[in-house]
Amino acid sequence: MNPIFSALSTSVFEVMSQLARETGAVNLGQGFPDDPGPLDVRRKAADAVVDGWNQYPPMMGLPELRRATAAHYKRWQGLDLDPETEIMVTSGATEAIAGALMAILSPGDEVVLFEPMYDAYVPLVRRAGGIPKFVTLKPPQFGLSEEALAAAFSPRTKAVLFNNPLNPTATIFSRADLDLLADFCIRHDAIAICDEVWEHVVFDGHRHVPVLGRPDMRERTVKISSAGKIFSLTGWKVGLVMAAPPLMKVLAKAHQYITFTTPPNLQAAVAYGLGKEDGYFEGMRADFQRSRDRFAQGLTDLGFSVLPSVGTYFLNVDIAPLGESDDVNFCRRLVTEHGVAAIPVSAFYDQAAVKTVVRFCFAKRDATLDEALTRLAKRQ
Ligand code: GLN
Repeated sequence: MNPIFSALSTSVFEVMSQLARETGAVNLGQGFPDDPGPLDVRRKAADAVVDGWNQYPPMMGLPELRRATAAHYKRWQGLDLDPETEIMVTSGATEAIAGALMAILSPGDEVVLFEPMYDAYVPLVRRAGGIPKFVTLKPPQFGLSEEALAAAFSPRTKAVLFNNPLNPTATIFSRADLDLLADFCIRHDAIAICDEVWEHVVFDGHRHVPVLGRPDMRERTVKISSAGKIFSLTGWKVGLVMAAPPLMKVLAKAHQYITFTTPPNLQAAVAYGLGKEDGYFEGMRADFQRSRDRFAQGLTDLGFSVLPSVGTYFLNVDIAPLGESDDVNFCRRLVTEHGVAAIPVSAFYDQAAVKTVVRFCFAKRDATLDEALTRLAKRQ
């Protein structure tokens, strides 16, 4: 088993960020923007603390945030959500995922996962008593096939947990992929736990398609979003969970004993932020797309083989054409000898099925990306 996935190992993000701190490297490993986030939203959070929003808010979340969430997803994704019964606030999307697994799984239940997958999924599934069943996606397309799904689903499948857009592949599931997945969930009576934290970070004119918006999946889908990603405030850890009332009741039972609630000042600020004009969200997307193009061009000029990135703020390169066969070793050299931290994508596979893809975060100022490119150029 990949040691990254043994239950209590240290996350690859922490390992690489620690190395970056020690070596003074440009950190394009752990995904966080160096943009400070919108000032008006940050001011709301500060004002809320001064104004006294400091005691336990309701367990399901501030009513104003739940109403703002319903309005936001109506505006952007056409979802009809009842703020009273279908929306809950958690301390980040990761709490929402952990809680959903604890709430839904019984020991021995199987969970279908698509690898490479976000590093928290497997340890959380295992600690909740579940058995992961992997569908392996391979570069450059990281595409889904009916055969692979048929091999992963079984009568014991209880849930499918996936990220769309996908971190680390920077791809999105097509409508046809989602049709196929929905079909398998319905046939196997499985719940779709949809980690959609990258929903606003999609490029080239693509629009995010939420599984919860499908009438045939409405009762069996948990949609998870993240204010940290929406506002480039990753440390805030404000997660938004959406599901039909019977499912939400079960999710709320897990949440009440995990964190119970989330800082009220941050909730108030996110409620305000979700109502920002369309231009804010479109501008964020355009800025990230510009950074993606700038960094992709720089990497290409240096001879890297850049894989397509249509969502998330990550770019992957295939290092096989450089004669490299071990991404972990490559990333270790990159950070210690050349001063650039990146993430080896093999860390996101259970059995390291792919070992020649490296992930860079491009949500950085031009000067930071240029400095990373200058350091990478000295590699040769
Ligand atoms: N989501 C971030 C990434 O993919 C990492 C979050 C974390 O450090 N746990 O890089």
